[in-house]
Amino acid sequence: MLTNLQARDVETLVHPYTNLATLRDTGPLILERGQGVWVHDVDGKPYLEGMAGLWCTALGYGNEELVEAAATQMRKLPFTHIFGGKSHDPAIELAEKLKEMAPVPISKVFFTSSGSEANDTQMKLVWYMNNALGRPNKKKIISRVRAYHGVTIASASLTGLAGNHNDFDLPIAGVRHTTSPHHYRLALPGESEEAFATRLAADLEALILAEGPDTVAAFIAEPVMGAGGVIVPPRTYYPKIKAVLEKYDVFFIADEVITGFGRLGTAFGSEAMEMKPDSISVAKALSSAYQPIGAVMIPEAMYQALLEESRKLGSFGHGFTYSGHPVAAAVALKTLEIYDRENVFERVRAKIPQFDARRAALEDHPLVGEARGKGLVAGIELVADKKTKAQFDPKLGMAAKCVAFAQEEGLIVRSVFGDAVTICPPLVISPAEIDELFDRLTRALDRTLDWAVRERHLA
Ligand code: PMP
Repeated sequence: MLTNLQARDVETLVHPYTNLATLRDTGPLILERGQGVWVHDVDGKPYLEGMAGLWCTALGYGNEELVEAAATQMRKLPFTHIFGGKSHDPAIELAEKLKEMAPVPISKVFFTSSGSEANDTQMKLVWYMNNALGRPNKKKIISRVRAYHGVTIASASLTGLAGNHNDFDLPIAGVRHTTSPHHYRLALPGESEEAFATRLAADLEALILAEGPDTVAAFIAEPVMGAGGVIVPPRTYYPKIKAVLEKYDVFFIADEVITGFGRLGTAFGSEAMEMKPDSISVAKALSSAYQPIGAVMIPEAMYQALLEESRKLGSFGHGFTYSGHPVAAAVALKTLEIYDRENVFERVRAKIPQFDARRAALEDHPLVGEARGKGLVAGIELVADKKTKAQFDPKLGMAAKCVAFAQEEGLIVRSVFGDAVTICPPLVISPAEIDELFDRLTRALDRTLDWAVRERHLA
């Protein structure tokens, strides 16, 4: 029986990424407020927010400094754009700060309101740059199977998940997907991580050669794949990939929308993964999700090409009304100040051994095939048979079942493609709360196992 608010919800809202049919029976969980790593529903029940919302509320809930930063900027100047030569202090300062923090040389910053817009912008900038450089055929973008880069038409095309393409007539022309760096699922029998990384770099090279190097413009990768199931590539993967990209003059885009700002224990995931990209997309933790803001961090060579092309065309014809929104920029600036002042990334590094140990221990559970992760992000893949790695029938929705039990246990986690349960708590989670998170998740896994046995889904 739905509550009044739930009934009004299903009569009025189309929910993103939701089985709209089953939601009509179950109704949504309606949340009302939050503090620290905890959120409360409308009945006052607390939940440990084990996903930081959608991999984004890095500083947790109830951060008054961020609220104040927004209110102050709203009072002073709630909006001005930065089109056609206008600007404002928060956008300038934020761009300066991002340049200073960047793990690779960055010349300029272009602001967006989301990760999807950042990745769409990346694609357009690469096309624009290659036109400026007089190579109009060099336009294809290579992404990876199981990548997640967003849902707008270009970024959804870069995303390598069938659920984002089916019935949407995607991907668009000129986008290719190479092998996912998932050793657990894709390694040949006995293949080491090193040999697997070598083979994946060879796969990429074969794809570039098959397409024609003169037609391949860029390669895009999340340092650690998030929504595709938290896939951590082998240690030598990115150096090997980078060598291939350099050989064929292919631009390297890092999608740091999840990994940017401390998630892996370093300011940028590129640093933790030995990745040397040319440009970087960020969003989410840039403002700890208190305001919608994203950015593309652009290297000097690309900027020079944009400068040339806009001189020729009379204008750089791209920009969103809310590019560099002053309130979003002010909140992001305050967020970066807090990361710095409170040594948030260093404190994340101190929490990783405990998080790693609790994560690894989940592999002893009868339902868990792989408990993978890096830093404070993890993917727990459920399997029907640990030895053969046989998966459950996707129709059973085992990971979703586990997520529902977790919710009853007062823990919010997510299920993603490949029957994985994902964990990505606010960076400010305490050691006691990390234990609480894994205790609750273990109870949810036990209840999922009981259910699977009862329903005879396990031998
Ligand atoms: N890139 C990555 C790596 C992401 O995880 C996401 C969002 N989950 C996006 C891009 C898209 O961001 P948004 O939802 O803000 O458009």
